[in-house]
Amino acid sequence: MKDGWETIIGLEIHAQLSTESKIFCGCSTRFGDEPNANTCPVCLGLPGSLPVLNRRVVELGARAALALGLQINERSIFARKNYFYPDLPKGYQISQYDQPFSERGELEIMTAERDEGGHPKEWRPFRIRITRLHLEEDAGKNVHEGLPDVDRYSYIDLNRAGTPLAEIVTEPDFRSSWEAYDYVNYVRRALQWVGASEADMEKGNLRCEANVSVRRIGDEKFGTKVELKNLNSVRFMQRAIEYEIERQINLIESGGRVVQETRLWDERAQETRPMRSKEEAHDYRYFPEPDLPPLVVTGEFIETVRATMPELPGARLRRFVDEYKLSHSDASLLTSERALADYYERAVKASPNARAAANWVRSELLRELEAANLSAEASPVSPEELGRLLHTVEEGKINAKQAKDVLVEMFKTGKSADAVIQERGLVQMSDEGEIDRIVDEVITANPKQLEQYRAGKEALFGFFVGQVMKASKGKANPKIVNERLKAKLSQ
Ligand code: ADP
Ligand code: MG
Ligand code: ZN
Repeated sequence: MKDGWETIIGLEIHAQLSTESKIFCGCSTRFGDEPNANTCPVCLGLPGSLPVLNRRVVELGARAALALGLQINERSIFARKNYFYPDLPKGYQISQYDQPFSERGELEIMTAERDEGGHPKEWRPFRIRITRLHLEEDAGKNVHEGLPDVDRYSYIDLNRAGTPLAEIVTEPDFRSSWEAYDYVNYVRRALQWVGASEADMEKGNLRCEANVSVRRIGDEKFGTKVELKNLNSVRFMQRAIEYEIERQINLIESGGRVVQETRLWDERAQETRPMRSKEEAHDYRYFPEPDLPPLVVTGEFIETVRATMPELPGARLRRFVDEYKLSHSDASLLTSERALADYYERAVKASPNARAAANWVRSELLRELEAANLSAEASPVSPEELGRLLHTVEEGKINAKQAKDVLVEMFKTGKSADAVIQERGLVQMSDEGEIDRIVDEVITANPKQLEQYRAGKEALFGFFVGQVMKASKGKANPKIVNERLKAKLSQ
């Protein structure tokens, strides 16, 4: 960014909570069904129908709030947010306003600026204040077909109307696009981790808006903010923010001024474009939803939810660093998904050494999983079998290079480490008697070298090792060969 300028960013995330049914009716939340198949008088907004709050939404909302360090309010109020749009049949969205489900979160995450190639520079801790997480219903979808002004049809699919959302709003605490990027990734992972949301941006069950402004360093007041929408991946969001920072600085430096508006990111053109200005902004006329009582959440309920929460990703990452002596980047990769972290910990238990297990999971196993497009849970090689393989390396039965091939084969066939090693005839000769025999032969066959070695030319040790390995066709266990040679040569 240009010298002398500072960026201010605040983020709003909408995450669909993973319930089977909608927030105020029993309709299914299944994705991809026939349009309007999953609707009823409540989510169609028919007169006389009444909403009933889905208890599971409250549980998952609580899991999400606890995962992000928010305080859950004992009492919260649903409110009507009024606006007209074809995908909103009631003419209002049931949301929360001045008494939200949870507030005042604080999160410490790790963040890093990236170089030109997108590689992280130095990781550092970063604190963000989360203003609130509230519960609300989603709207339906408008589907447009044909060419504008020629043969255009618009359809309305209300399957999504009434699916539960958690809206998560931060304070304007971000100072760079990469901080925002690391935060959104953290939230996605945390929500998946506790089972609150699938948080998949491609499927649209996590959506993100970025509020961006710039000011000259030293200015007390924030600049005018612009809201960015249509950010279909975390990387798109990061790029959109970068573009917007430049645009705003250039605008101000050339004598213009930023207007408060909503802009859409156009990934193809790599630019943001105006969508609506503040003048066209809605006045939502919020008022308390008369058809729903206040939501009361007892301390007991919160404790029940807390008791079923897994160890959170941040805590687990720190524990991996402390307990298994992993680097931050290894620990962060291994805690990028709960299934992967679980896999790693099971592998550690079955392995000779935690660092080696980390290396193998991070490089060899992940490469196979990614190529096969599988998650760690579905790995054809169990963590116990991976540990078994690492033991054979540790014991010197096979070397690391052979083990890598064995792992690939195990992955392909689902066979055990021992089975693959047997089949490939990789088993090392570890029988001391047999190795002794070869060692004796080699020593007898090389009297000159023996004499020189005994006279102090210790470099010849490697020669003897080589001869023994050659005589065993590479199968002798090098560790034992070394031990036996040392003993016999110095006799
Ligand atoms: P609005 O009423 O326009 O939705 P809010 O006060 O609710 O505005 O803030 C929405 C988001 O914008 C929050 O994440 C907040 O942190 C962020 N925000 C507020 N002011 C600024 C600013 N000047 N620059 C960047 N982000 C801001
Ligand atoms: Mg807002
Ligand atoms: Zn319904």
